[in-house]
Amino acid sequence: MSPGKASQFPSKLEAGYRSFLNDRLVRERQRYETLAQQGQSPEVMVIGCCDSRVSPEVIFDASPGEIFVARNVANLVPPYETGGEYHGTSAALEFAVQALKVKHIVVLGHARCGGIRAFAEQAAPLSSGDFIGNWMSLIAPAAQRVAARGDAADHLHRLELAVIELSLANLMSFPCIRILVERGRLHLHGAYFGVADGVLLLRDPATGRFERLVDATASASDETSFNTNNTQP
Ligand SMILES: [Zn+2]
Repeated sequence: MSPGKASQFPSKLEAGYRSFLNDRLVRERQRYETLAQQGQSPEVMVIGCCDSRVSPEVIFDASPGEIFVARNVANLVPPYETGGEYHGTSAALEFAVQALKVKHIVVLGHARCGGIRAFAEQAAPLSSGDFIGNWMSLIAPAAQRVAARGDAADHLHRLELAVIELSLANLMSFPCIRILVERGRLHLHGAYFGVADGVLLLRDPATGRFERLVDATASASDETSFNTNNTQP
């Protein structure tokens, strides 16, 4: 009996690791050895959701050492504040910006986000006493901006986009980030992954609209862009 079986380690993970040993590690051994010796120096940080369907490394076909990833429920960046709490995402941001000196931070939202849906629908077990409830209360400003029009799916979609914008705005509340952005040494991006179709939308900072990063059909249509500006009817 292998140690994995003895400890009831998930067989899926053991099989996956065996595959990694026999395939990817063989192909990328030199890369791993170099990374081990020289350390990591990724130029991109991605802030994504914990959702198992939206792995940034898979979506961007990234190799080891290429992107520095922080994932949390609903790809949220909290506002900068220095209270004596435990700020995992803020710590990751600080490390990425000040130690790794990344050049880009991408907030990666996605379709069918369970955390955002739970907030919108006030579903159990959200309450002020739950970690998730407290965490998701961060999106309240975005929810207030998104007008309740259209059907539930449309509302959730626009809320998902608004949460990306909220995280981008909160990034700018970090002094160490704001100063680098203003100096042109750090660039912030908002992206949105459509789980079902694999379409990646990128936020245009000039218009606030989310447009396809890669237009497979080479034709723009209303269906390929979205806007969270809900002040217009
Ligand atoms: Zn999510």
